[in-house]
Amino acid sequence: MPSASKKTTGSVFLVGAGPGDPGLITLRGIECLRRADVVMFDYLVNSVIVEHAPVSAERICLGKHGRSRIWPQDEINRRLVELAQAGKQVVRLKGGDPVVFARGAEEIEALRQNDIEFEVVPGITAALAAGSYAGIPITHRKLASAVALVTGHEENDKEAAAVDYAALAAFPGTLVMYMGVTTAPTWTSALISAGRSAETPTAIVRRCSLPDQRVIQCTLGEVAEKMTGENRIRPPAIVIVGEVTTLASTLSWFDKRPLFGQTIMVTRPLSQASSLASSLAELGANVVVQPAIAITEPEDWQTVDTAIEQLDDYEWLVFSSTNGVKFFFERLFKLGHDVRALGGIQLASVGPGTADALAKYHLQADITPDDFHAESLSTALADKARGKRFLLLRASRGRDVLTDDLRAAGGTVDQVIVYRSLDVERPDVDLAKRLAEGGIDWITVTSSAIASSLVQLFGEDLRKSRLASLSPITSNRLRELGFEPAIEAKIHTMQGLIDALLEPE
Ligand code: SAH
Repeated sequence: MPSASKKTTGSVFLVGAGPGDPGLITLRGIECLRRADVVMFDYLVNSVIVEHAPVSAERICLGKHGRSRIWPQDEINRRLVELAQAGKQVVRLKGGDPVVFARGAEEIEALRQNDIEFEVVPGITAALAAGSYAGIPITHRKLASAVALVTGHEENDKEAAAVDYAALAAFPGTLVMYMGVTTAPTWTSALISAGRSAETPTAIVRRCSLPDQRVIQCTLGEVAEKMTGENRIRPPAIVIVGEVTTLASTLSWFDKRPLFGQTIMVTRPLSQASSLASSLAELGANVVVQPAIAITEPEDWQTVDTAIEQLDDYEWLVFSSTNGVKFFFERLFKLGHDVRALGGIQLASVGPGTADALAKYHLQADITPDDFHAESLSTALADKARGKRFLLLRASRGRDVLTDDLRAAGGTVDQVIVYRSLDVERPDVDLAKRLAEGGIDWITVTSSAIASSLVQLFGEDLRKSRLASLSPITSNRLRELGFEPAIEAKIHTMQGLIDALLEPE
C-alpha cells in the first residue's frame, strides 16, 4: 500500500505492560500512558496498569476469551491507524514485551505503511519474569549459556510450523515455551522424539509475578500430563526446560514470603484501603478490596462553617479519626483560611494514626494516647477538661463516649459532623461469589461500623472466611452480631493487625 502523504499529529506507542505485577512496567511506559488519549489493551494486561492513563482517556479492551468478542488482528491494525490519523496519542498496551509473540511487527508495519509516528517501549517478557519469580536463573555460568524463546502454539500458525524441533532438541541451553498449555502433548513429544531427554528437568510457571503464581517442577516427559486431565494447569503458563530449573527449590523467594497463598479481603473505605492493602501484598498476600463503608462529605457544611468562624472560642480541637482531620482541613482551606486559624488551640488526637494525619499539616498533637480508644483519650483529657471548651470533629455515626466523658469532667463540648460514614449496600458480585465458595482466607475487620456493614453485605457467608479484628471493641461488635473473630490485633493499629495475621496462632 502506498504511504499516505499527509503527516498525522497522532502517534502510537506500543508499550509492554510486563507479565502481570503492575510494578513491572517501565517508567517510559507509564509516561506514555499518562498522556494517552486512547489505550488499547489486551485482556491479559493487569487493569491496574491502565489506571495510569488519564480518567478522560478512552479505554478499549481487545477482548477476553469466553467473555467478550476478541478483536481480529486486522481490525486492531485498522483502528490504531484511524485513531492516530484522528490526531490521538494512542497507547497499544500489550502483555509482557510488545513484540515477543505479540504480533507487534504486524502492527508496526500497518503504522509504517500509513506514515504514522510510533515508538516501541519494551516490557518484561514472561520468560524473564517467570525465571526471576520462580527462582530460576535462565542462564547460568555452569548450566546454560544460551536461552531460546519458543512458541508452543501450533494449528495454522506459521511461526509454530517453522519450529525446528531437531535443532531445539540439540540446543545447548534453556528452552522457554510460550503458549504451550493446550499444545503440550505435541511439543513435548516432538522434542523428546527429536532427542531431548524425557528426564530433562522442567518447570511450569503459571501466572508468574501475580499473587496466585504456581510453580510446578517436573520432567519434560511429565509436562503433558500436568497440562491435561482433571486438575490441569490452565493458561497463562510458561514452561522452562533445562537444568537451571532444578535451582528453583533453593533460589525461590516470591512464594516464600510469609503471606503468600493467603487471600485477604480489605474492607476499609476506598480512600484508606490502599496502605493496608499494599503492606499485605508486599508480604505476599493476594489482596482483594471490598470497602464495607464509604466516606463522604456531610450533608451540609453549615455547622462546620459556623464552628470554623468561631474557632477562637475553643481551647481544644479533638480529632477522632484521620478522616476527621482530612475533611476538617479541606473545609478550612476551602473557606480561605490557613493553619494560622488554629492559633493557640490545643490539639487532641484519638490515636497515633490521627496524630500522623495532623502531622501532614505540620501540626503536632498535644495529646495522643497510644491506642485509639476514645476512653483513653477521655482519661488523658479528664484533668484538663474543667471549664474548657472543646470542639469535637466527628463522623456522622460513632460512639458518644468522648463527648459524655468530657462533659462529665466539667468541659463544654460542641460536636460537629465533618464527614459521613455510609454502609456500602452491595458487594462486588465476583467477590461475593468467591467468598461463598470459600476462596477468601481472611477478612480484615477494622472498625465496629465495618463489622456491622459486613454482616449486612455477606450474612452467613462471612463464616466461610476467618475474621481478623482490629480491637476488642470491634471484636465485641462482631460477637453481638453472632460472629467470632479468629484473631484480634494485640496493638490496635493497622500494623498491629498485620502482625496478628503474620502470627495467627
Ligand atoms: N508478549 C508476551 C507474550 C504473549 S504470548 C510476553 O512478552 O510475555 C502469551 C503467552 O505468554 C502465554 O501463553 C504464556 O505462555 C506467556 N505468559 C504471559 N503472561 C504470563 C504469566 N503471567 N505467567 C506465565 N506465562 C505468561
